[in-house]
Amino acid sequence: MGKKMLAAVVHDFSKPLSVEEVVIPDPLVNQARVKIETSGLCHTDIHAAHGDWPVKPKLPFIPGHEGVGIVESVGKGVKTVKEGDRVAIPWLGYACGHCEYCASGWETLCENQLNTGYAIDGGFAEYANAYADYVAKVPKGVDPMDAAPLTCAGVTTYKAVKVSGARPSDLVAIFGIGGLGHLALQYAKIAGAAVVAVDLFEEKLSLAKELGADYTVNARTQDPVEEIKKLGGADQAICVAVAPKAFEQAYHSLRRGGKIVFVALPKDNDVKLPIFETVLNGISVIGSIVGTRVDLKEVFELHADGKTRVIHEKRHLHDVNEAFKEVEEGKAKARLVFEL
Ligand code: NAD
Ligand code: ZN
Ligand code: ZN
Repeated sequence: MGKKMLAAVVHDFSKPLSVEEVVIPDPLVNQARVKIETSGLCHTDIHAAHGDWPVKPKLPFIPGHEGVGIVESVGKGVKTVKEGDRVAIPWLGYACGHCEYCASGWETLCENQLNTGYAIDGGFAEYANAYADYVAKVPKGVDPMDAAPLTCAGVTTYKAVKVSGARPSDLVAIFGIGGLGHLALQYAKIAGAAVVAVDLFEEKLSLAKELGADYTVNARTQDPVEEIKKLGGADQAICVAVAPKAFEQAYHSLRRGGKIVFVALPKDNDVKLPIFETVLNGISVIGSIVGTRVDLKEVFELHADGKTRVIHEKRHLHDVNEAFKEVEEGKAKARLVFEL
């Protein structure tokens, strides 16, 4: 029997996670063994643990795709990282490296990709094995508590803002100021746009203001479509709220020629959008999935340059089920991060 580690394991989609001792697996060829220091809790981990999506993970598995830690040892073939490096292990855990998507800088669309905390055991554990070519080096000066949320929430929203094409004269609406949204709004500001932040909770909206949002709308008490139309309509809307209704409101808040970026992945998989208005108003509907290794490198650089603020609260892995509940109820302040 090998050495054991603490891990949060999903055995059943309808049961809480089990925090237990499991054997530390040896790194496979091309993998590095990482001693995890911090691990962010993304809402995707909750969807994964509940089996919310059409493609479900194979049970049992260890969630977590914002794991940050130190390389302890490497398997055969590893050339890009070495013992002692601090790395981040993102959702894109592996891609083939040679299909048209991989070759054109869209490895996030690779059909042979494997996702961390889904198909490959993830960061909710003391150790994780990761394909070295798909980890990101965390620059010196980036705190591991900050690095964890940047590894998914950061790179995903950085990419979403990029594909939205937001520019300085634009108004960007961010629907959902949670883990992803609190960073989305900062990237939209970095792009030079004005930002309107929408959420259901006042605490989230005051955080948005603190982080530079120009306008806020509480969708519980106000109609976001009406409020955003009063501002002239959004040029881009980025939907990171886990509710189809928010997608529909985001769509209707757009001005002519506007773009909506779908990012959140609610269990309820359908939205109702009108064809006629989409055509006549020249609306673009864009899906955006995480970001590439280059995007993540840029996200870390921006943070190292002091251009972003990551809002997080520490939790212990033993409290993983309580942490899930906090996020589901909208009570978590931006990102919860497990310290291992
Ligand atoms: P989160 O729970 O931290 O944030 C969601 C926020 O949306 C909360 O602040 C909540 O109050 C708010 N919200 C909920 N309903 C709303 C409504 N009707 N109107 C306005 N705001 C509302 O979650 P997160 O970790 O930021 O993840 C958000 C979603 O993005 C999840 O579905 C997750 O799976 C998905 N995700 C997608 C990608 C991708 O690559 N596309 C990457 C990471 C996460
Ligand atoms: Zn994520
Ligand atoms: Zn590929």
